[in-house]
Amino acid sequence: MTGDPIILDRIGRRYAVPGADAVCALDDVSLDIAGGTSLAITGPSGCGKSTLLGLLAGLEPPSSGRIWIGGVDIATLSDAESARLRREQLGLVFQADNLLPFLTAVENVALQVALGGGDSQPPLELLSELHLADHAHKLPDQLSGGQRQRVSIAAALVKAPRLILADEPTGSLDARSSGGVVDLLLDAQRKSGATLIVVTHDADVAARMDRVIRLHDGRLAGEAGPIAPAETGDLRV
Ligand code: ADP
Ligand code: MG
Repeated sequence: MTGDPIILDRIGRRYAVPGADAVCALDDVSLDIAGGTSLAITGPSGCGKSTLLGLLAGLEPPSSGRIWIGGVDIATLSDAESARLRREQLGLVFQADNLLPFLTAVENVALQVALGGGDSQPPLELLSELHLADHAHKLPDQLSGGQRQRVSIAAALVKAPRLILADEPTGSLDARSSGGVVDLLLDAQRKSGATLIVVTHDADVAARMDRVIRLHDGRLAGEAGPIAPAETGDLRV
């Protein structure tokens, strides 16, 4: 299985603001992402990073332009098809873990399986693979921030998504936990051949992806190739 290639063709996204000018969150962004590769999206706060992920997840449509995932123009999908695609093929990770506080780690992962859609790995087996077996039966508030985020990632990965979208997944973690979270995402991506897109402010995290792009004021402002962490000082993430 290889993750689908993604083509963004002149994407724009505007938000109407009552009583003020519309906000242009994304403006004329074109990008080709090869299937099965990893990409970091960097840029200052408010430059459109989360908006771009939301469009890729099919959570909202672009105002202009087209998005092709695996050769399919996602604007042509019905709401039901779009929801099914998200359930079966998409793994979403956010800055704050989105675990339910009254379910244990393994129950949180199992919940994703219970929601249906596609094949899945037994939750306990996955947690063991991710070195979280000792924490499987703990509630989220018995885990550290880094452990909670790794459980969230397990929940996002349990159905072997072809596309993994992570929005500042290390944003609330220290450097050591952050490294562990990126290890998990990259291991999963390499093992399953999924396409991985990570929004991050952290130059060390960005440097571990195959490609790094930068947004500024909703426009594509540059691209860096594979870079060593020590060289990221001028990346202006
Ligand atoms: P980032 O994730 O890079 O910090 P966002 O994609 O969240 O940036 O936001 C880009 C711009 O779009 C910002 O100016 C933000 O205020 C605006 N924006 C995002 N979502 C909405 C919305 N639902 N309504 C109005 N403006 C929005
Ligand atoms: Mg954001």
